[in-house]
Amino acid sequence: MALLFGLMLYNENSCVLTYMISIFTIFFLTLGLTIGSFLNVVIYRLGTHRSLGGRSACLSCQKVLSWFELVPFFSFIFLSGRCRSCKSRISVIYPAVELITGFVFTGIYLKFQEVLFFNPPAFLATFSYYATAFSLLVVISFYDLRHKIVPDSLALSLGILSFLGLFLFDGSGFHLHLPSLFEFLSGPLIAVPFALFWLVSKGVWMGLGDAKLILSMGWLIGISRALSAAVLSFWSGAVFGIMLILFSGKHGLKSEIPFAPFLAFSAIVAFLFELHIFPFF
Ligand SMILES: [Zn+2]
Repeated sequence: MALLFGLMLYNENSCVLTYMISIFTIFFLTLGLTIGSFLNVVIYRLGTHRSLGGRSACLSCQKVLSWFELVPFFSFIFLSGRCRSCKSRISVIYPAVELITGFVFTGIYLKFQEVLFFNPPAFLATFSYYATAFSLLVVISFYDLRHKIVPDSLALSLGILSFLGLFLFDGSGFHLHLPSLFEFLSGPLIAVPFALFWLVSKGVWMGLGDAKLILSMGWLIGISRALSAAVLSFWSGAVFGIMLILFSGKHGLKSEIPFAPFLAFSAIVAFLFELHIFPFF
């Protein structure tokens, strides 16, 4: 009887837990979609003289958007990707940034959800840190897609944040400590070959911005995952390049494909899915 009661209690507990996990998943997805919508504003207005405040307006007819047109991702679906007043097409970049940020935030939560239940303050620190760093990576990627350059202000912000992370996290999670020499070197060790690529090819194979990004990645996700991310970025970049040549007549081999989006995508994947291609680190 006691066993039966215990079993019922256990089932009820796991039911409550499943329920809470679903609620939190929806919460972090919504948070990501909302932050993604703000990142769109940053990507679009950075480098222009427009402030980050103020209501968003249609880029074609300048009509200020109403509240339901500002609902991240879903407004794009409901409006079928067109402005409500002038019917001009809205770039798929906007919902893409929102959806990616939503998935990334959900991914960070799922990775650290045990920490949330056992040590909420540590979870808050961990989540805020990686959410900020990966948001920066999303902005850098889409800014690079748009302008073919990684702005120094963003690269520097990511560099400082990644370096600070050395003091906040170790391999097992949130842990204030003085980093070891190897942790310090995780950035430079992986960035040096890329900087050499840049130097030897005079910026043709690789931009200096990409090397700076790799430096931050080494500090941010550790050398093993960063190496795996570098390999993944070459593969995904190559596959994308080949597809571009096969399916689009306009682009030849000479067309410049920005590398930062592949690096950023690979870094996030390597971190969330614990990619370790080289087991000796
Ligand atoms: Zn319009």
